[in-house]
Amino acid sequence: MVQEKEGQDQRIVLALCICSSCPSWVECGERGGYCSANVGRSRKIKKERGCICGGCPVAEKLGLVRDYFCTRGSEKKQMGR
Ligand code: SF4
Ligand code: SF4
Repeated sequence: MVQEKEGQDQRIVLALCICSSCPSWVECGERGGYCSANVGRSRKIKKERGCICGGCPVAEKLGLVRDYFCTRGSEKKQMGR
């Protein structure tokens, strides 16, 4: 099922996400994974102080080209999809 697959993908993204080591990170109970359309933007991160998504295994695995997903939205959203 598509839903099951999406849930699994999201779990993998959250497990590999390195947002919590980022200078823009705000400790607020969120778990990162903002590049995923299912997660969406952060409710707390507002200031862009650097983004380390380029060094994340998820970005490499999925071939992501954008960054600052926490403030600007998911890759899909930034691409206007
Ligand atoms: S690409 Fe960025 S937002 Fe996505 S999982 Fe990696 S660190 Fe987190
Ligand atoms: S999406 Fe980028 S800027 Fe935002 S917390 Fe994750 S690594 Fe940092």
